Amino acid sequence: MKPLGPIPPGYVTIDGELAVAGHKASELVAIAGSTPVFVYSAAHIERRVARLREAMPERLALHYAVKANPFGPVVDLLDPLVDGFDVASGGELSILQGRSVAAERISFAGPGKRDTELEQAVGAGVTLNLESAGEADRALAVADRLGVTPRLAIRVNPDFDLKGSGMKMGGGAKPFGVDAAEVPALARRVIASGAEWQGFHIFAGSQSLDSAAIAETQAATLDLAARLASEIGQALPHCNLGGGLGIPYFPGDEPVDLALVGSRLADAFERLPEILRETRFCLEMGRYLVGEAGIYLTQIVDRKASHGEIFLVVDGGLHHQLAASGNFGTVVRRNYPVAIASRFDSPVEEQASVVGCLCTPLDRLADKAGFPKADVGDLVAVFCAGAYGASASPAQFLGHGPAVELLV
Ligand SMILES: *Cc1c(COP(=O)(O)O)cnc(C)c1O
Repeated sequence: MKPLGPIPPGYVTIDGELAVAGHKASELVAIAGSTPVFVYSAAHIERRVARLREAMPERLALHYAVKANPFGPVVDLLDPLVDGFDVASGGELSILQGRSVAAERISFAGPGKRDTELEQAVGAGVTLNLESAGEADRALAVADRLGVTPRLAIRVNPDFDLKGSGMKMGGGAKPFGVDAAEVPALARRVIASGAEWQGFHIFAGSQSLDSAAIAETQAATLDLAARLASEIGQALPHCNLGGGLGIPYFPGDEPVDLALVGSRLADAFERLPEILRETRFCLEMGRYLVGEAGIYLTQIVDRKASHGEIFLVVDGGLHHQLAASGNFGTVVRRNYPVAIASRFDSPVEEQASVVGCLCTPLDRLADKAGFPKADVGDLVAVFCAGAYGASASPAQFLGHGPAVELLV
């Protein structure tokens, strides 16, 4: 039998069923009107932000990286809770504009910004995190055309990586950001152009559970920011320290030690060099804020045996859960936390695999794991579905379309 990932804390049983915000799984499905459905817990997200605020130095601002979960009601919930939003496309920016998020609270990073996206962002007064000198030229030309002063920051490709990071976004040759050595010259050019100079965005990686490595990376990021600001020769207005905080998805994963990361950052803030004394710092996070707050509920439509193995075939699949199926940036497929939601307090009775409804062997949500005996009509829950589920899966594949989403 293969182990399942750890179920995040905070999930309870009512009448034998998994429950979120006082609603049993069967009630959540009734509210949604159909399966599969993503259910996001508002209380879980609020608690998460509160814990971060408690652990982190007061001077640190918190930003939400919209790509993790751009669902409108989630954005609305986070709007008063976080200090800013980070988008990675004109489409995400449109979502925020549609929810009336103030442009001064938004920054836009991401390679390959089109001129239409630059116009949308510069026109609205959003901060652009410039990914290259070429993009700086295009942004300045767009601002000229529109007759506005652009708010510009430079995304720095740091000369280091976040250790234990699931997705490396810095160190060595990268399509993201401007190599650290090139930053001072570009920054001087941006400042000389009359743009509103916003500072740096330094993102070294994502999904790390190594608390000491996160703290070291943040310290190295502050050193780099100080060095670059000194070379530019003026105090740095703003510095986005990236994110990097991961969540446990797989067997054996342990959560980040927030207290350790927070106290090390507080120490580093105490020792800031003069040139960073007045700098406003932020962390940008997607999955850490919303990942564990979401579950994906899907119904078993068939139970079958093949060569002695049990398959529970559900009406959802990798078209909503690409990462849980092991096909989004993982090398070795391991099981996410998955449970029979309609028998949440029942003991393990058999080994089974949960497979999706797509006609591909890739569509597997749990492989040879232990479950209570489940049958057609039972509900399966995939946990850690609040981030990069609906937003990072090929919903159109095989014509199934998106799942319903629900914030409770
Ligand atoms: C993806 C991304 C994030 C969010 O990463 P999480 O792992 O969801 O916290 C933040 N900033 C940038 C620049 C990103 O590309």
